[in-house]
Amino acid sequence: SAIRKLRASFISTVAQCVVELAQNSLDALATTIEIHVDMTKFFIQIIDNGTGITPEDMEKIGQRYATSKCHTLEDLAHVTTYGFRGEALATLAEVSALEIISKHPNYYDTYCTILKGGQRLQCGPTRSSRRKKPGTIIIIRDLFFTYPVRRKHLSENGFINELENVKKSVESLALIHPQVTFTLVDASNDSKIVTTKKATTNISTFRQLFGSSLAQNLDSVYAEEDDIKIDGFFSLRGFHTRQHQYFYVNKLLIGCNEIYKLIDEIFNQSSFGKKNYELPLKSGSDYSKYKKSSMTKSLEKYPIFFIHLTCPTTIYDKCL
Ligand code: ADP
Ligand code: MG
Repeated sequence: SAIRKLRASFISTVAQCVVELAQNSLDALATTIEIHVDMTKFFIQIIDNGTGITPEDMEKIGQRYATSKCHTLEDLAHVTTYGFRGEALATLAEVSALEIISKHPNYYDTYCTILKGGQRLQCGPTRSSRRKKPGTIIIIRDLFFTYPVRRKHLSENGFINELENVKKSVESLALIHPQVTFTLVDASNDSKIVTTKKATTNISTFRQLFGSSLAQNLDSVYAEEDDIKIDGFFSLRGFHTRQHQYFYVNKLLIGCNEIYKLIDEIFNQSSFGKKNYELPLKSGSDYSKYKKSSMTKSLEKYPIFFIHLTCPTTIYDKCL
């Protein structure tokens, strides 16, 4: 039961669940990912055009440590996929009713498996015509049905708030994967809340997500030393929240506040104090009354940045 507790806490919000599912689609090299969420029903559906799942793997999916991404200790050092532990779907199979429908290019049939409360209810070929091209559909119903307290917590904190978290998570995945078309739909009213079209640069996806006024006059960042590389873009015009600050390591968004504060400081020291920078005010506004560093303090602006650090996976602990 201790293990159960540990595993259930691994996914404790709808946003985390969506991230795990979308990361699986990205690991499966999907170029189109469509996510539907109905927060009040604890329902999530994700449709991708990735590599699909073989019938053999389909039988194992949802078992603890069932992963197709990492088999040996040697693999562990070099995995470049988001997943390698085989825990997300096993956890979801326990805390929801999980349905997986998948078409693998080497098999004629589409396969389906259903798990609920850790039990496999069904597994085999399906006559459903829902999936003809290779790819996978994953449907989560009754998420956290075994955890009424968690559900209560989510509903007390507001479904809208959690939907906002889902939106931010999808945006941050879309930003680092410009080549993928992402759609996030609020299934309770069928409205699209995130849409990105395939692009070639992170800036172009940034523009699609947040509009061209925020995406204009961005400066680029680039540094390379040995096998470590940093690239991205920033704007010292700033934004009134930290909402537009993104720091990734090997395409994984880092959520650690200290790092964001540190990057803020670096930007502050290197530029805010020295240069006059533009404020994101409407054109024609009089900037001259704002003086250098005092304005950062009084206006509480945070630099906008997107920074991606690429480095060998062997130099840090992936399990943290
Ligand atoms: P992990 O990602 O750590 O391998 P998961 O529990 O997230 O573990 O997924 C288990 C396995 O299910 C994956 O290793 C992969 O083989 C398969 N899988 C899950 N989602 C997809 C998907 N969308 N497309 C193809 N395979 C998938
Ligand atoms: Mg995974």
